[in-house]
Amino acid sequence: MSILYRSDEARGQAWASYFADHAPDLEFRVWPDTGNLADVEYLIAWQAPADFIASLPGLKVLFSSGAGIDHVDLSAVPAHIPLVRMVEPGIIDGMVEYVSLAVLALHRDWFDYAAANAAHIWKPLEVPPASSRRIGVMGMGVLGQAVLGRLGTYGFQLRGWNRSLREMAGVESFAGADQLQPFLAGCDVLVCLLPLTPATCGILNQKTFAALPPGAALINVGRGPHLVEADLLEALDSGHLSRAILDVTDPEPLPAAHPFWAHSRVFVTPHVASMTQPETAAPILLENLRRHQRGEPLLDVVDRSRGY
Ligand code: NAP
Repeated sequence: MSILYRSDEARGQAWASYFADHAPDLEFRVWPDTGNLADVEYLIAWQAPADFIASLPGLKVLFSSGAGIDHVDLSAVPAHIPLVRMVEPGIIDGMVEYVSLAVLALHRDWFDYAAANAAHIWKPLEVPPASSRRIGVMGMGVLGQAVLGRLGTYGFQLRGWNRSLREMAGVESFAGADQLQPFLAGCDVLVCLLPLTPATCGILNQKTFAALPPGAALINVGRGPHLVEADLLEALDSGHLSRAILDVTDPEPLPAAHPFWAHSRVFVTPHVASMTQPETAAPILLENLRRHQRGEPLLDVVDRSRGY
C-alpha cells in the first residue's frame, strides 16, 4: 500500500518522516521518487494534471495538500475518486494570524506610519477604538469563522457574509446574493475568504467596491481571480477605497512590472497568509486515510457540484 506526495519536496520529507514513525505499514513516496505508479493508492498533491492522474490506475483518494482545491482540474479526476481538502490547525492558525495582523495594521494606521518613518515625519494620528471599526468577512467557512472569532477578541464590530446563513455569536450574519449589498454597506474593512468558484470569480469588482463605505479597505486572502484588478485600481485612485492588502494575485508570482507593486496604497504578500504545516496536517490526514481503510466515510470531502 503506497502514498505519493507530489508537492513541495522539502515539506514532503517532513511528511515522510511522520508516516515512517506512525504508519510503517504504508510506503510513503515523495515526488519525484514515485516508484511504480501503478500501485499508488493515495495521492497528496497541490497540482494534479490530467495526464498524471491518468497514470495512477490504482488511485483511491486524492488529498489536496492545501485548503483550496481550485488548482485541481476536477474533470481529470474520475468521479469515483474522492477529493479531500486540507483542514488542519496549522492553516487555520496561520490565516488567523495574517488577517489579524492585516486588520490591526489598517486599524492602527501602520502603513501611514511606515511612510512617515521613511520620510522622518513625527505625526500622531487619531487612535479610534476598535469598537468603532466594522470588519466584514466574505466566506464564513472554517477559516472565516476562525478569523471572526479572533477579531472579536479585539472588540471590532463584526459581520459575515456566506452562501447559506451562518449564525455566530457576536457577528451580524448575511447570506446570499440578495444580502451582499447590505453586508458591504457596513464594512470598513472587507476580508475575502471565499473559495474560488464560478460564482465567486471576479466578486471583488466595481459594484462590490461601490457598495462599501468611503474609505474602506480590502484584504484579499482568498484567490487572485476573486479580484478585478482594474476595478480595484480605479476605486483606490478615485479615493473611494483607502488601501488594499493582497496575499493572492493573478497570476502568481505577480510580475515585477505589475502596477500593484508601485502603488502606494497596495501591499502585496506572496501567497503566504497560511500554509499547511506537516506537523499538524500529517496526523489529521493519516487519521482520515485510516477511516477510508476501515470503510468509514472520509472527512472534508469536496462537494464537486459546489466546487469546494
Ligand atoms: P470552507 O470551509 O470550504 O468555507 C468556504 C465558505 O465560503 C463556506 O462557508 C461557503 O458557504 C462560503 N461560500 C462558498 N461559495 C460562496 C458564495 N458563492 N457566496 C457566499 N459564500 C460562499 O473553506 P476555508 O477552509 O474557509 O477556505 C476558504 C478559502 O480560503 C479557500 O478556498 C482558499 O481559496 C483560501 N485560502 C487561502 C490561503 C492563503 O494562504 N491565502 C490559505 C488557505 C485558504 P456554505 O457554508 O454555505 O457552503
